[in-house]
Amino acid sequence: MTHKVLIATRSFGSTSHKPVKMLHNAGCDLVNADMSLEMTEERLIDLLKGVAAAIVGVVPMTAYVLENAHDLKVVSAHGVGVDHIDLVAAARLGIAIANCPGANAASVSDLTIGLMIAIARNIPSVDRKLRQNQWGRHQGSELFQKTLGIIGLGHIGMGVAKRAMGFDMKVLVHDPYVHSVPKELPEIQSVSFEDVLRRADFVSLHVPLNDETRNMIGPAELSAMKPGAYLINTARGGLVDEQALFNALTKREIAGAAFDGFVHEPPTNSPLLGLDNIVVTPHIGAHTKESIERVGVVAAQNVINTLKGKEPLYRVK
Ligand code: NAD
Repeated sequence: MTHKVLIATRSFGSTSHKPVKMLHNAGCDLVNADMSLEMTEERLIDLLKGVAAAIVGVVPMTAYVLENAHDLKVVSAHGVGVDHIDLVAAARLGIAIANCPGANAASVSDLTIGLMIAIARNIPSVDRKLRQNQWGRHQGSELFQKTLGIIGLGHIGMGVAKRAMGFDMKVLVHDPYVHSVPKELPEIQSVSFEDVLRRADFVSLHVPLNDETRNMIGPAELSAMKPGAYLINTARGGLVDEQALFNALTKREIAGAAFDGFVHEPPTNSPLLGLDNIVVTPHIGAHTKESIERVGVVAAQNVINTLKGKEPLYRVK
């Protein structure tokens, strides 16, 4: 029996044919959404007609969309974040939701360290100046023996902690759901949220976006950070109050920030883009050829398992 599978993400299968082949071999008929067009709820409902499974990027899988997707059995996020999927509605409707934990962690961890160095050494800003014939030799800061505060010690938080050790950084972590320091990283110290903010030279966010974490960094948290500290966000826009961040960066309450996620993507007209002490990237954390292949394979397997009547590889609870 042929199953229609909607692909609503730009990157699925773009660096390797493996995930596409897996779906074809399992008898799936792929429907590729044109991702250059805006993905409204109405468009998504239309695309989901007769579709049994969907592999999706950050598209609005709202209750309204899920309620109108009458043949849908499974949605696999093409990544780890599921903040764009209404999990409560999916559970009510019996639609399995799956994701790809850990499959993109190496790429996001690499980018996090890259952004830390980029902002601490002002790489994008001096690059822009040099192209305008300005030999502006900005004095930066080292990562060496600085304190890194990681909020959220999951796959990516761990990847960042491991890499930071290579820079001889002291690593503090805050994760209320991780009750002991992982055996492979005995040097890291588990502390309170307030302690991370108060003590870290670099604060890096690696938590999911949900009702508990939305705006977890606002005016009070930014004021609690050291004046010379940097805030790195390769997790999700929405974790940080962007107006408060703009104020803190403008008043130099913190030294700088580096962000790969924004409340509105793209962040057109955001005042943050006018500041020199923030480095911005367009949600590229997971965009490496290696990560895209690994995520694609897991997402395809999530779909295949479910369509065969089994559990997806990684069901989101
Ligand atoms: P993960 O599920 O492995 O880890 C998340 C960790 O956050 C868990 O250990 C959890 O206990 C912890 N956590 C949850 N609520 C918390 C809180 N209130 N305070 C502190 N810790 C809390 O996920 P991951 O693979 O490490 O990814 C983390 C996030 O990064 C994802 O949810 C996703 O939104 C984001 N992400 C972004 C990109 C990108 O392209 N920039 C790519 C992948 C993931």
